[in-house]
Amino acid sequence: MATVPTVTLNNGVEIPQLGFGVFLVRPDETVGAVTSALKIGYRLIDTAQMYQNEKEVGIAIARSGLQRSEVFLTSKLGNNKLGFDAALFGIDETLAALGIEQIDLFLIHWPLATVRDFVGTWEALERIYVEGRARAIGVSNFDVGHLQRLLDEAEIVPAVNQIEAHPYLTQEALLAFDAEHGIATEAWSPLGRGAVLGDRQLVDLATTYAKTPAQVALRWHIQRGSIIFPKSIHPERMRENFGIFDLELSTKDMRRISALNRDKRIGPDPETFSEIR
Ligand code: NAD
Repeated sequence: MATVPTVTLNNGVEIPQLGFGVFLVRPDETVGAVTSALKIGYRLIDTAQMYQNEKEVGIAIARSGLQRSEVFLTSKLGNNKLGFDAALFGIDETLAALGIEQIDLFLIHWPLATVRDFVGTWEALERIYVEGRARAIGVSNFDVGHLQRLLDEAEIVPAVNQIEAHPYLTQEALLAFDAEHGIATEAWSPLGRGAVLGDRQLVDLATTYAKTPAQVALRWHIQRGSIIFPKSIHPERMRENFGIFDLELSTKDMRRISALNRDKRIGPDPETFSEIR
């Protein structure tokens, strides 16, 4: 089984650079999908309150026979739990659903800056961290302006920023800002939810490297230093997505993939997104 590299977060906690994401995995499919992923070797599971499958993720881990410390678990605060008190209630719900005492990484899912100030919510995550209920805390979908506010006003610098990124949305400025401030970047929808897989350049590179377009795209993220957790409920694709550690893209080919950027989002724009359900 390939050894997945780890990234050391700004508080010394180590996170696997490749994991398994469960967005849009139905609750009745989740135990099976996470069980398959753990068997293949994935040791990072990325869920969220809004995915409504935390409980099933917890069941799969409990049944796996793995020690709790062997699996890195991330979840995210629901968009309907903004503000200090609601966020403290939120972590209780996540820990109870997952059936654990401490989560490895807990994130604010969206800044929702037009709905409510996120600094108060972040103060709750700081409390959760200080109390030891999360080994690390971070944010998701934060742009430079959102991060700068936390850097100016908060005590703790987020350990990660989880953002949409893939060859059609390379986010170079935001990756550079994260790196400059010691914030690890996690790239969500690393395959553009499948949209990049038919790209001519990626298909050509896949032929050159005797890999698949998905493997080439995922390897590009790894060499950029991002943490990724592609999603598939099919074990053969999970295995394919795990097979990216015997591949090294040349600098020229890394640049060729980055040049595919067209600033094209699959998901909402964090500046305007205001859905609080
Ligand atoms: P993704 O880029 O991982 O693409 C998933 C889709 O690509 C799957 O539905 C499948 O159809 C296809 N696919 C996967 N592997 C493949 C392969 N080897 N060959 C062919 N097709 C393949 O998109 P995603 O699920 O949106 O993102 C991954 C994870 O990121 C999520 O599960 C979730 O954990 C996280 N995420 C976070 C946010 C956020 O706001 N923080 C938003 C979306 C997703």
